[in-house]
Amino acid sequence: MAENDLIVIGSGPGGYVAAIRAAQLGARVTVIEEDKVGGTCLNYGCIPTKALYQSAATALLAARMEDFGVVAGKPAIDMAKVHSWKRRAVDKLTGGVSQLLKGYKINVVNGRARLAGNGKVIVKRNDGESLELESKNVLIATGSKQAVPEVCGINLKGVMTSKELLGYEGLPGRLLVYGGGYIAMEFASIYNALGSKVTVMVRSKVLRLMDGEISKRLTLLLKKRGITFYEGTLLDRIEEGEKGLTVHALKGEEAVTLDADLVLVATGNVPNTDGLGLEEAGVKTGPKGIVVDEFYRTSAEGVYAIGDVIGPPYLAHVASEEGKAAVEAIFGRPGKVNYGVIPAAVFTIPEVATAGKTEEELQREKVSYKVSKFLFGGNGKAVAMGEEEGLVKVLAYDDGHLAGVHIVGPHASDLIHEAAIAMHAGVSVEELISCIHAHPTLAEVFHEAVMALNEEAIHQL
Ligand code: FAD
Repeated sequence: MAENDLIVIGSGPGGYVAAIRAAQLGARVTVIEEDKVGGTCLNYGCIPTKALYQSAATALLAARMEDFGVVAGKPAIDMAKVHSWKRRAVDKLTGGVSQLLKGYKINVVNGRARLAGNGKVIVKRNDGESLELESKNVLIATGSKQAVPEVCGINLKGVMTSKELLGYEGLPGRLLVYGGGYIAMEFASIYNALGSKVTVMVRSKVLRLMDGEISKRLTLLLKKRGITFYEGTLLDRIEEGEKGLTVHALKGEEAVTLDADLVLVATGNVPNTDGLGLEEAGVKTGPKGIVVDEFYRTSAEGVYAIGDVIGPPYLAHVASEEGKAAVEAIFGRPGKVNYGVIPAAVFTIPEVATAGKTEEELQREKVSYKVSKFLFGGNGKAVAMGEEEGLVKVLAYDDGHLAGVHIVGPHASDLIHEAAIAMHAGVSVEELISCIHAHPTLAEVFHEAVMALNEEAIHQL
């Protein structure tokens, strides 16, 4: 076995990106993966959900083809084909990552890794053999898994996590989604568009960590599409009955009983640390996962950790940035992750995206700020596309710099990056206003929202 400058445990967007960056810096790298290359993101997360999202968005568009003057037969959903579209995307991208790892001469070992102290890692290979590897640097990138509430009936057939639902090729008549985070909302949107009757039940409120106004707007738009919401409702138990599954919950004092064919439980994440030998190796953990310092060093010499396993935000691009920063620190080029400006997108229909502070955060910090909004309905491209729902909300400090930008509307996930770059680079409101935006584009909605800070938006009174 070749000597290693770095052993990476886990090949998700944290681990594989870290491995490639280390190889670019000249390191000899081994990646250990117990399941599939690409981790949660490529196999059970970001990518399969976005492929399903594409089918769902196409179904909605197909249902209104005649608005655009396209006359064809009545659209129908073929779930087998929906899932083969999903598999095509997953296979193409995981195959691409494997090729990249090979191209960078990164040694990939299929098996389960455990720390054995002093730079030693024991791998129980998937073929049954055991292997001992050694390196001065070990990077833990083992991710997280879905947290499941301990309520009666949680193990019934038909009660699923997102991973299980992604592998289920049927179309439930009635889907109950328990949870209000981005994964819950994406599945709710997707299955609603594919034709299921969707009910969302959430302990507090939908997208609770996002800007309150945006989460309210999204909830309204999704209600208009036929999704039913029970906010402030706590799951009590699930039973099997004649009508499928019966979900019992409490909304304050009031009992809520709902029937469903499938229940998706999407109530958060727990770090993947089981069996890693952390305690024996002297790696400290806290309530959210492995504890690290600003260079992703754990409490054990030569052991680093990044990505979901160190806690929220549970985002692929954050895991990747941390992976790059960690290996740059290991190999002498300290990198930094700008946690102040993390763009994040929710692939509901319409999409939601956010970067920087929410209005609630600014209020809690008691700083003075300005707020402006511009509606997609006032934008030429959005009207021509028939995608007029939603708005861009801009928050700015009194010194003329952006504090946060929040979008609900078409292509929000792409539009957010102009705002993220502006905040990351400290571009001022005045500079953004003076930067010409092409017409007609959705980017003009952001431009006009920024102009509205100075009461200069043109297409809005
Ligand atoms: P992971 O991707 O979880 O990879 C960890 C890897 O380590 C896994 O492959 C696992 O098999 C392996 N492993 C664990 N323990 C061991 C061991 N002992 N030995 C060997 N291998 C081990 N994020 C976004 O940014 N955008 C999205 O749109 C998005 N959508 C999502 C949708 C869903 C349904 C889910 C569940 C998640 C989504 N995420 C999204 C979150 C994203 O998938 C995670 O934040 C990201 O995958 C974290 O990357 P990671 O490298 O830290 O861990």
